[in-house]
Amino acid sequence: MPPVFRFAPSPNGYLHLGHAYSALLNFDLARETGGRFLLRIEDIDPARCRPDYEAAIYEDLAWLGMSWEEPVRRQSEHLDDCRAAIDRLMAQGLVYPSFESRAEVARLVAQRETAGTWPRDPDGAPLYPGAAKLMSADERTRRIEQGARYALRLDMAAACAAAGELSWIERGEGPGSETGTVVADPQAWGDVILARKEVPTSYHLSVVIDDALQGVTEVVRGQDLFHATAVHRLLQHLLGLPVPIYRHHRLIRDDLGGKLSKSTGSTGLRELRAAGARPADIRLLVDLP
Ligand code: GLU
Repeated sequence: MPPVFRFAPSPNGYLHLGHAYSALLNFDLARETGGRFLLRIEDIDPARCRPDYEAAIYEDLAWLGMSWEEPVRRQSEHLDDCRAAIDRLMAQGLVYPSFESRAEVARLVAQRETAGTWPRDPDGAPLYPGAAKLMSADERTRRIEQGARYALRLDMAAACAAAGELSWIERGEGPGSETGTVVADPQAWGDVILARKEVPTSYHLSVVIDDALQGVTEVVRGQDLFHATAVHRLLQHLLGLPVPIYRHHRLIRDDLGGKLSKSTGSTGLRELRAAGARPADIRLLVDLP
């Protein structure tokens, strides 16, 4: 079976050099290994994703000389798969609704922090401090029937206890030079959100479902997602999904060493193209042969 690679951008801005590097790396690896290259549009956030950004992704990647298999999978078109996965986790007793607003969560964190430090996840966000896990089933039902907004969270302690120790094969390198067999530490993320009332999925849930449904065998993506792989590995285990090999790659930085953002003009592919850059120049800029 040929390896299957994918590039999975979110259409919430224009592509920059960091995306170009990731996309070209996937594309080149697929070519070198006789593998397949897929494009997936990660558009589950209706507030931030736009059709014109999606159109720009196709245009920019084609300009770079890339082609991909059709049809392109759009995550927003497959929410039923996510609902089914949530049902499966619920049946295992591993998901619970939490009803606090973002502001309430922030207030709870601030309260905890007056009593000492409160743990943060690998991205620097405070872990969920709420007590929704302890709410009675009757109270949950009452609030949901009243139309309250909620997020569905993974009961991380129960999920980790059910799963035991998990690891993945890292062919690239994590931010701390981790490589080879990496032991997953999903606990570091606390009770992550897997879905919300208005969107029945999340990045973590959709990415593992789609990688499995598309038969992706090698996940090649930026080092900024290295630690999230622990959550992905846990969800794969709980949902009985196959485990791809991971290859996390270096990040392209701006001149000051900062992370590129979608509004970084000077590193945007459209800006570079308008300034006369050719696809070969983009490869040079990201150090690809
Ligand atoms: N959609 C994610 C992003 O644009 C990438 C997801 C992944 O490669 O796992 O950052």
